Amino acid sequence: MPPLKQKRDLGWLLIVLAGLLPLVLGIIGTAIEAKNSVQHQQALAANTLLSQAEKMSDSAWNMITSLRQYHYQPCDKIEKQLQLAGTLNAYFRSIGTLRGDNVNCSSAYGNNPGTLQQMIRRAVPVTGKAWWSLSIAGTAGVPDRSAIVFVRQLPDGEGFWAIIDGQYLLDFMSAVGSSQGYQMRMQFSGGSVISLNHPDNRTSLFHPMTYHASSSRYPIDVTLVAPGSELGNAWQRVMFIFMPMAAIFSLLLMLLTANWLRRRISWRDEIRRAIQAKQFHMNYQPIYNSEKQCCVGVEALMRWRRPNGELVRPDMFINAAESEKMIIPLTHHVLHLIAEDVQQWAVEPGFHLAINVAAEHLQHPDFVKDVLTFARRIADKKLTITLELTEHSLIKDGPGVAAKLASLRERGIKVAIDDFGTGHCSLSYLQTFELDYLKIDRGFINAIEQLNGETPVLDAIIALSHKIQLQVLGEGVESALQYLYLRQHGVMFIQGFFYARPMDNDRLRNWLKIEGKTPLEGDAVD
Ligand code: C2E
Ligand code: CA
Ligand code: CA
Repeated sequence: MPPLKQKRDLGWLLIVLAGLLPLVLGIIGTAIEAKNSVQHQQALAANTLLSQAEKMSDSAWNMITSLRQYHYQPCDKIEKQLQLAGTLNAYFRSIGTLRGDNVNCSSAYGNNPGTLQQMIRRAVPVTGKAWWSLSIAGTAGVPDRSAIVFVRQLPDGEGFWAIIDGQYLLDFMSAVGSSQGYQMRMQFSGGSVISLNHPDNRTSLFHPMTYHASSSRYPIDVTLVAPGSELGNAWQRVMFIFMPMAAIFSLLLMLLTANWLRRRISWRDEIRRAIQAKQFHMNYQPIYNSEKQCCVGVEALMRWRRPNGELVRPDMFINAAESEKMIIPLTHHVLHLIAEDVQQWAVEPGFHLAINVAAEHLQHPDFVKDVLTFARRIADKKLTITLELTEHSLIKDGPGVAAKLASLRERGIKVAIDDFGTGHCSLSYLQTFELDYLKIDRGFINAIEQLNGETPVLDAIIALSHKIQLQVLGEGVESALQYLYLRQHGVMFIQGFFYARPMDNDRLRNWLKIEGKTPLEGDAVD
């Protein structure tokens, strides 16, 4: 596949992915939200059910407390009052008293209707407690309808009981959860299950959701099962609210991605076209040697002037060229421009020409060949070419880079480390790579405030450079104070606006004739 088509396809893929991202996140987010919403509804329903069951239990225990007045009373004497109390209070199927295991008196059946076990149609639980309650499937009188029995047993063998009809709870369950199709189950002390089932005929992709809750006051447990279709409905509702927003985000992100891609492509195309249209030219910033008291070299700095006269900032287009893989063609062009400019120079042999090298170029297999081709092209001028590398460009493939630099140094090319102190692991590089010059970054020079003051980091860098016999150059020197400080501390090379600003080739040639030979103010009388 041709590379251009491949890139275009990749661009489309990126745009589609950017569009899909909010939609996928929207689908996942709404699914989570729908699940939370169903759970929240279930919790609400379960709490309502529990509080109703607690209210019934309160009522039952109050009733049982009030039955205490019939302690030791014969049934025929209290039967009528029991009937009245059982009928007038809500919820109760029957109430009564116990004597041992027997029902002594019942509001429904009067005297001695049988044992407690017969009445609740199951074995009496062994709880060891004086107060207990239990859900049961039915009573002797109403065997097919669930109920809850509440019993209080006194140490003397007497006791009181109350039975609440399960229908009250079933009706309540129906009111609370039938619209959502919940299946609901309730148990008192793990007894028979009082349940309400809604046959769910709706087919659904989703599993039913189960929710459990227990009362903190009584041994009551509630289980709610929401049908899968309930989750589906909730999801639809949430999607209806959020998906339009996700769609808008999706569109926005697609537009942003398309725009970003266009800008990327346009930087690359623009640089390519600017090379062809000869919109780049070189500036040169003189370098001063305080021992020789004259200009001993220049740093070549690239400039881009658009046809409308606007200058594009070098850090901006160089960064763009680096990220758009255009820095190598651009550097080839720069070397070509410099080679043309140099033909017009009239400088002493050994005059320094410093060239900035991009990290990517340094890593490229053709790097050494490119530099040597350039060196051959300007060989008649006998310049000393210095390659300026940043710490950053030395990070990758250390041994490979060291070998390239060594082979260039053998052929008389010098190597400087640029912007020293702004990158990483600076000190270790000084040992790993064979270097000639160290350019102290402007940031450290800016820290100089007075001639007799101390700038510990700067002083340490200078001392270290001297120790390992590296030549030091101070960059961005803007004032006499900075210059004098550096000179006092043995920094021999100076570059900055204080000495000279970068200038184009024509101005440089004129400048070299007079200013280039003039010592800096103060130096001449030394
Ligand atoms: P650099 O290599 O650190 O270049 C020195 C920068 O400091 C230049 O900015 C120069 O104009 C500026 N400068 C010099 N003296 C002073 C001073 O006294 N005060 C202040 N404030 N600034 C001073 P410029 O030309 O904008 O270049 C910026 C960066 O762009 C350079 O930093 C270098 O990293 C990169 N660059 C420039 N030309 C080339 C090139 O041909 N190839 C590559 N790979 N990078 C280049
Ligand atoms: Ca530089
Ligand atoms: Ca620099």
